[in-house]
Amino acid sequence: MNILLIAIDTLRADHLGCYGYGRNTSPNMDAFAREAVQFDTAFATAIPTHPAFATINTGQYSVSHGVVSHGSSAPIPRNVPWLPAILQQNGYTTCAVDNLAEWRHGFGRGFEFYVDPTRRRALSINCDNRTLNRRAIPWLKQHAHEQFYLFVHYWDPHTPYLPPRAYRRLFYEGNPNQPDNHLLDAMDRHPLGQMWRETWFNKLGPHITDPEYIVALYDGEVRYCDEGVGQLLRALDETGRRDDTLIVILGDHGELMYRHGIFFDHHGLYDGNLHVPWLLRHPEVAPQRASGLAAHVDVAPTILELCGIEIPEAMEGTSWAKHLLGKGPAPDREFIVSQECTWQMKWSIRTRTHKFILAREEDFYGRPMRELYDLRSDPDELHNIAAAEPDLAADLERRLEDWIAERMQAAGLTVDPLVSHGLTLGSRWKEEGDVQGAPPMEVDQR
Ligand SMILES: [Zn+2]
Repeated sequence: MNILLIAIDTLRADHLGCYGYGRNTSPNMDAFAREAVQFDTAFATAIPTHPAFATINTGQYSVSHGVVSHGSSAPIPRNVPWLPAILQQNGYTTCAVDNLAEWRHGFGRGFEFYVDPTRRRALSINCDNRTLNRRAIPWLKQHAHEQFYLFVHYWDPHTPYLPPRAYRRLFYEGNPNQPDNHLLDAMDRHPLGQMWRETWFNKLGPHITDPEYIVALYDGEVRYCDEGVGQLLRALDETGRRDDTLIVILGDHGELMYRHGIFFDHHGLYDGNLHVPWLLRHPEVAPQRASGLAAHVDVAPTILELCGIEIPEAMEGTSWAKHLLGKGPAPDREFIVSQECTWQMKWSIRTRTHKFILAREEDFYGRPMRELYDLRSDPDELHNIAAAEPDLAADLERRLEDWIAERMQAAGLTVDPLVSHGLTLGSRWKEEGDVQGAPPMEVDQR
């Protein structure tokens, strides 16, 4: 069984048609989803990019593989299980069309071919899907007769959202410059917001005041990327290998737009960041919706089992393969634990009904150290009920701390890895905030 793993950076599940979005952002992925397994509730267990991809490749939680933040130079340990290396050992011809290995030692392990078209550009995340496809598609055609594993990592939905011109007004008809719109005022008091204006918004014309214009640009990037995915899928069909290839499409994390006072970035353990798309098509698996709580740790074990390869014991995720093949019940999880340690140092525990977020140190925004949301009545997580529901908050905090303590013990750690590691990008922010006297951003409740 060949494997094509398509990862789309910064892709919110709920901005895709197949996940219920109202805009036509994803006709190709929607068509794919109709022939595939769609995991309706799949979550990142560690954000953003580096922790997420370390988790996807190891099938381990970040406490175990040790990559708790983005932007650290610490290599990925060589003793963790690593999907591309396992596939290579099992006879696969492996290829990545990606740039993660450029940033962090260890991401390239197990790849015979590592093609990084982003090296042609000053800012690697500006490399679009067409540029990647120009490398990925010829490789696919050339190696289609071998047993292959091809990993393609698109970046289009990541900031800056500057899709080709034809996509910039696709989902927006308003006036992006209305002077009486103040929804972006808080962004302007923030170091990241100033950077957005200077490096990116300024390319879009006069002073932008409407964040919905920026959201529509993000959606334009998603649509543009979707067409690249369609191009790659058609190229696979043309090789004649469609019926013996497992195809996985997933996101590494989502994006927060502006409603949490976090502007166009992927920090904050809210569902906008944690809820990721995960689609999977396998010739022996009937199209279906999988509704149980799934997570990035499940991706590698599920791929391995569907390809008849033994799952290493050190992988901590659960394979969905038997369930998808109709040979077993759905994996049963009560909750999913996630963490971030890049811009802010937090843990979260998410059940089907609630999310509890625990900060290990105060964040830049001055938010409470404990947040609790009822996801049934408040899916956008805007009304913190930690004070109103102290018993529930305490119960979730205990389950979270127990889970962390258990994982730490298994990994031989005595200090919470977020605390011992420390913030990466966020440490610079704190310094800038002090220097410039920037006030904390107000949390916009709209
Ligand atoms: Zn990412």
